[in-house]
Amino acid sequence: MNVAVIGAGTMGNGIAHVFAQNGFPVNLIDVNAAQLEKALQTIQKNFDRQIAKGAATEEQKNNALGNLTTYTDLVQGVKDAELIVEAATENIDLKLDIFKQLDTLAPANALLATNTSSISITRIAAATKRPSQVIGMHFMNPVPVMKLVEIINGYATSPSVTDTIVALSKQLGKVPCVVNDYPGFIANRILMPMINEAIYSLYEGIAGVNEIDTIMKLGMAHPMGPLQLADFIGLDTCHAILNVLYEGFGNPKYAPCPLLTNMVTAGYLGVKSGEGFYKYSNGSKDLIVSDRFL
Ligand code: NAD
Repeated sequence: MNVAVIGAGTMGNGIAHVFAQNGFPVNLIDVNAAQLEKALQTIQKNFDRQIAKGAATEEQKNNALGNLTTYTDLVQGVKDAELIVEAATENIDLKLDIFKQLDTLAPANALLATNTSSISITRIAAATKRPSQVIGMHFMNPVPVMKLVEIINGYATSPSVTDTIVALSKQLGKVPCVVNDYPGFIANRILMPMINEAIYSLYEGIAGVNEIDTIMKLGMAHPMGPLQLADFIGLDTCHAILNVLYEGFGNPKYAPCPLLTNMVTAGYLGVKSGEGFYKYSNGSKDLIVSDRFL
């Protein structure tokens, strides 16, 4: 099966990595040529890490790199695709535009999947004339490591398309879970209110950053606390997903905490900007709470 991955950022390079590693020819497409170059370097680095851990061999790495071709031109990149996985920036207008183009550029029988974290699959599908062939294929970050693929059926997704995507996910060594298309699907519907509640607990002065994260880590056996996880996901992303839940359900319980809104407005986005609930700028692996929360 010929696969095309659109977007070569954090998720796109990981998705291309796992398909190529499992023998699929992959066209990796991005509007930004520098991003494609960076993605290839990241994929090589991640293979080297897997090899060092005994999770991949040098031969697998070479075969996988041989399966990968990069394109900045969407027309060339998708013309022979049988499955397209879109992992471009999380922006509804951008995704609607990409799917409209894919509908005319991709072969008529091609399946169109999106890795969106929060945008309605039904809405994306409605931008095409083949809504029964559109589905959510939500990989987790980092893709080569995380086992879950949340598969989201849009309102019109055909059961045979779901079966194909479930079987494909298993071929990639992943564990697929099929859910229906409502705001936040399952992963973010449950995760984001927990993160928001942790931020509210900090905002209301009930406990400090360390206490909140330690209670959730040691008390619930979570590998990292919700505030550290929010920093890792990106506070702007958390804020955007909470707004999708808030607007989608019309329920104020999902409204982002004012502290989160302030931090995003001020550019304190977590790991990607160097500071969120913790600070990351000094290169230390230890978790250092931001001075603002001491
Ligand atoms: P990112 O910003 O790292 O990468 C997005 C890439 O899309 C960029 O390289 C950009 O140049 C490219 N792009 C933008 N417009 C394009 C176009 N028209 N055609 C081709 N490429 C285009 O974003 P990301 O974190 O990789 O997220 C991608 C998708 O995956 C989003 O829908 C996001 O919600 C979802 N997602 C992200 C995570 C995460 O932890 N980062 C987890 C699960 C799902």
